[in-house]
Amino acid sequence: MAKKLQSIRGIHDGLPSEVSKWRKIEDVARKVFATHAVSEVRLPILEPTELFVRSVGEETDIVSKEMYAFEDQGGDNICLRPEGTAGAVRAYLQAGLTRAGAQRWFYMGPMFRRERPQKGRLRQFQQIGVEYFAVNGPVADAEMLAMAQCFLDTLGIEKVRLEINSLGCAACRPAYRETLVAYLNARAESLCATCNDRIEKNPMRVLDCKNESCQAQLTDAPEMVAHVCGDCETHFSGLKSGLDALGVRYEVNPRIVRGLDYYNRTAFEFVTDQLGAQGTVLAGGRYDGLVESLGGPATTAVGFAAGMERLAMLMPDGDKQGVDVVVVALGDGALPYSLQVASQLRATGVAVVHAGGGAAKKQFKFADREGALFVAVVGDDEVQQGVVALKNLATGEQQVCAIEQVVSLLKG
Ligand code: ATP
Ligand code: MG
Repeated sequence: MAKKLQSIRGIHDGLPSEVSKWRKIEDVARKVFATHAVSEVRLPILEPTELFVRSVGEETDIVSKEMYAFEDQGGDNICLRPEGTAGAVRAYLQAGLTRAGAQRWFYMGPMFRRERPQKGRLRQFQQIGVEYFAVNGPVADAEMLAMAQCFLDTLGIEKVRLEINSLGCAACRPAYRETLVAYLNARAESLCATCNDRIEKNPMRVLDCKNESCQAQLTDAPEMVAHVCGDCETHFSGLKSGLDALGVRYEVNPRIVRGLDYYNRTAFEFVTDQLGAQGTVLAGGRYDGLVESLGGPATTAVGFAAGMERLAMLMPDGDKQGVDVVVVALGDGALPYSLQVASQLRATGVAVVHAGGGAAKKQFKFADREGALFVAVVGDDEVQQGVVALKNLATGEQQVCAIEQVVSLLKG
């Protein structure tokens, strides 16, 4: 036997029971986002590698070690997108929308990161993301979070909590950074190698270290929320009172830092205890500096992304497409008419599978395996009269009826 090929490690197949959950997630997202007048965009999966180096940041795990980046046949450095925000900003600039007023976008699609695969941590995963451009002030942040909460509620996902933080801005972060670096340097010997590496490069990430012995050293570490400037303070309190007014529950978690470099002010995560270490299901924040750093004018922006596979893990099992009717043809003479019966029923929106003709017993067995609700039996008599014998498999009841009648019987 030839050797069986396997999918790449950390890359899953979407089989019917999972895909039905994804579709539900997508449907709910479309409906909920529409009530906030958010429009769908479909952006490229391949982007120039430099886009992520310049936006996500060279010191992040994503850019330093997780990108599927390569040189193509023409010598261009391209990569499979690891996240959606950078591409959205590129598209926003490329389309010349910076003077077109507020833009509210959402997208859904695959992202790629070469991480260590675990439950809820894949190398190809799907995100649903939302990005608002040229939308200012804490009202936008609060409303976006209310929208995200409504999205999760409508999916029936409970047991998630919202945590928020302020990451400061270009005015207040540098001074805080110095305070933090001094604090960390004083404890460097007791921190892990990764933390030591981050003290100079990305000190706020040290606060996020999953290592318990590191956390024990950090209990009284200075926190950004306590060092924000007046404008950031006003923004943060505006966000909190907006959430209060909207009835969105939250906790302030001063340790939320976000893995990507481009965030400022608002940062948030919806987290659950049900997925082990992969507890963040939806995360995002404000990134007012990113449009400018990618060559555009200073433009405010806020967004989030949710991992579809993690959301699906919190939902009850989905079903594959159900079968309403199996059409059974008794004898070759009935076959052409039975095919027409199947296609006429489908035209009314009924889910139909043809049993393929042949021995009656085999066809009824097939209908059972398909889990059909009804069997429409077609023999010579039915052909002549232009009817079907419809059998309800649950009750065993059978009646002869015209095709137009079948639909009302199915509903009844
Ligand atoms: P984590 O802390 O779990 O690594 P992250 O901070 O890297 O998440 P983001 O880049 O903010 O995550 O992505 C937003 C969401 O996308 C996450 O909250 C998560 O639900 C999902 N996600 C991120 N990476 C993966 C992955 N490798 N596999 C599956 N889902 C993921
Ligand atoms: Mg990550």
